Amino acid sequence: MAANKQKILIVDDTPQNIEVLAEVLGPDQEILFAVSGRDGLDIALSEAPDLILLDVMMPEMDGYEVCTRLKAEERTKDIPVIFITALNQEDDEAKGLEIGAIDYITKPISPPIVRARVKNHLELKRYRDFLENLSSLDGLTGVPNRRRFDECLDLEWRRALRSGGPFALIMMDIDFFKAFNDNYGHVLGDDCLKRVAAALATVARRPGDMVARYGGEEFVCLLPETNIEGAVQVADSLREKVISQGIPHRFSSVAGHVTMSFGVAVMIPSLNKSPTDLIKLADERLYQAKQTGRNRIIS
Ligand code: GH3
Ligand code: MG
Ligand code: MG
Repeated sequence: MAANKQKILIVDDTPQNIEVLAEVLGPDQEILFAVSGRDGLDIALSEAPDLILLDVMMPEMDGYEVCTRLKAEERTKDIPVIFITALNQEDDEAKGLEIGAIDYITKPISPPIVRARVKNHLELKRYRDFLENLSSLDGLTGVPNRRRFDECLDLEWRRALRSGGPFALIMMDIDFFKAFNDNYGHVLGDDCLKRVAAALATVARRPGDMVARYGGEEFVCLLPETNIEGAVQVADSLREKVISQGIPHRFSSVAGHVTMSFGVAVMIPSLNKSPTDLIKLADERLYQAKQTGRNRIIS
């Protein structure tokens, strides 16, 4: 596992406490800090730290409230939280653990204990990230798999529902891939899928964009906050990128190399529509692209 620096967010209304903790933890991690619960929540959302050390007693929003909100938000709910506090009654500790903290450290802190516990929790977090990553990638091509795609689609759909922005999806499928497999064999077929996936993955680069393997020789591209012009531009790039790989395909009826067909759909999410409608629409257009000659985009 890579030795990238992990990020720790320290939230405490007393800056000296933050300094002491940062000193104790040393230079092996990146330290972020906030002096109020509200700032802590903002930083947790924007920076996705690997661990949060959270003071309980703070004015305006106390640590329990911060932790409750972190656990209620999809994007922060899996970040481990350790309470660091002067409260040392059994009830306080129980309350902290009940609302989702992973550990509880009482002040005054003991540097070796803090270091050891933080180290343990960071190791667990690293391992969890590793497994999470493994289970969300397609084994053959290394791009996100169907499971991961479904999760992102759901999340981005709900986000677009709130923002009121357009949401685009491109369904794509390799042309005459059965003939490719039948004639060149499955090993070269797999190789072709890997090269196509790698090429596609270089195209959609904005945050939130995603190219995933939908199944077989079918891929899908998710483009949040993208209108039809933007989506067609991306589809053009995807189509050209695949062609530029120049993967020979003597058994294709449209070209001497591997090509793909594309169905582009854009919707402004609303409560009477669902992500499935968007997939269906893109699928219908992909079908049209196949019917009208392949190696093309229908939008
Ligand atoms: P079209 O142009 O209409 O898309 O025709 P097609 O031949 O590409 O489509 P069809 O659905 O008939 O065949 C898809 C083929 O994809 C069937 C299967 O042999 C191949 N395939 C699906 N998944 C894999 C895979 O993981 N590895 C390999 N090597 N082949 C696969
Ligand atoms: Mg196909
Ligand atoms: Mg297919």
